[in-house]
Amino acid sequence: MGKNLHDTPMLDQLESGPWPSFVTGLKRLANDNDMMVDLLGQLETSYETRKGYWKGGTVGVIGYGGGIIPRFTELLDDNKEPLFPEAAEFHTLRIMPPAGMHYDTNTLRKMCDVWEKYGSGLIAFHGQSGDIMFQGCTTDNVQPAFDELNEMGFDLGGAGPAVRTGMSCVGAARCEHSCVNEQKVHRMLVNAFLDDMHRPALPYKFKFKVSGCGNDCMNSIQRADLATIGTWRDDMKVDQDEVKAYVADKGRKYVIDNVITRCPTQALSLNDDDTLAVDNSNCVRCMHCINVMTKALSPGDDKGVTLLVGGKRTLKIGDLMGTVVVPFMKLEDDDDFEALEELAGEMIDFFAENALEHERTGEMIERIGLINFLEGIGLEVDPNMVNQTRTSNYFRADDWDEEAGKWNERKAAG
Ligand code: SF4
Repeated sequence: MGKNLHDTPMLDQLESGPWPSFVTGLKRLANDNDMMVDLLGQLETSYETRKGYWKGGTVGVIGYGGGIIPRFTELLDDNKEPLFPEAAEFHTLRIMPPAGMHYDTNTLRKMCDVWEKYGSGLIAFHGQSGDIMFQGCTTDNVQPAFDELNEMGFDLGGAGPAVRTGMSCVGAARCEHSCVNEQKVHRMLVNAFLDDMHRPALPYKFKFKVSGCGNDCMNSIQRADLATIGTWRDDMKVDQDEVKAYVADKGRKYVIDNVITRCPTQALSLNDDDTLAVDNSNCVRCMHCINVMTKALSPGDDKGVTLLVGGKRTLKIGDLMGTVVVPFMKLEDDDDFEALEELAGEMIDFFAENALEHERTGEMIERIGLINFLEGIGLEVDPNMVNQTRTSNYFRADDWDEEAGKWNERKAAG
């Protein structure tokens, strides 16, 4: 301990703006941790030369095939010794967060203590992967650090071509919009596919995300291979007295401009007596009106989930949003949860057998066609599946009645 800070003129500039800077945080950690002093040195070099100087390698803990992101410095002097020796090994432990990201302060303090003892002190809650990122650890300290975190009840998350750390929103604990037991879904999926998390054996990553309503606070549509999103299928609940109070407070123009006209399917209208009329058959459960008029409106009672597959950020064929494959399913009793687990298992098996190396579920579906994917996992085609919203008002509906008739016959036949 006690190394002097390197000169970091470029990083210092990042502290000059109006927002809190990560550089200030790193410098604070550097007061007691030489690893952080040298990390700042390496980072400054990267800013000067516009190059990254980390390379990967193989670091793990006993019994796991993933979960550690190895980082070794490439900045060496003429004798092939690290230029910043204290940060020469700067590995990251990806630890799975609790469902809904619920912690108590005692747990957070213990985590900080573990990381001050074995690592750089730098923790990210939570990385894009969903994990708690314990950043900056030497190879020797990886196993003892993990052992202590494991002793607290935490487990390593996925890295590489594996089922990745799941995420669920805070849910009913703090949110009145919750339509499903998010934590139970999350926990069930993690427990069911733990082997696929610990031992990467898939063509590429597979992510579960669980959001309790259409607000989708987990961004599961954009980034989950299987997104589970809470919704309802009966009528939304309307407290007309609260609607009137809202209109009295904000005025009719405000309500029309900010609620009625912003409904994407024009399912709302404001009556002359300042009550609200909702055309529930045209409501697509987007949550906008409920978000604005939280006291007056709320989801209905017949709650369940919508399942979407294939969301992901940019890879080979650009960004993909998830496609609805199950418009609505109940998730209440054990049988419902078992059905979801079974379907998720079918998807992972199909993905394992049919995806190309480094290909996400969405890309695989684009390549082989949605119908083949649905057949492969044993799902009936349903007119309520939405791949892409219609963007043109002009379309031909020839044969639609006939096709709808066929679907209804299949449905009736069970
Ligand atoms: Fe319209 Fe969305 Fe409200 Fe449904 S939830 S009525 S689609 S604004």
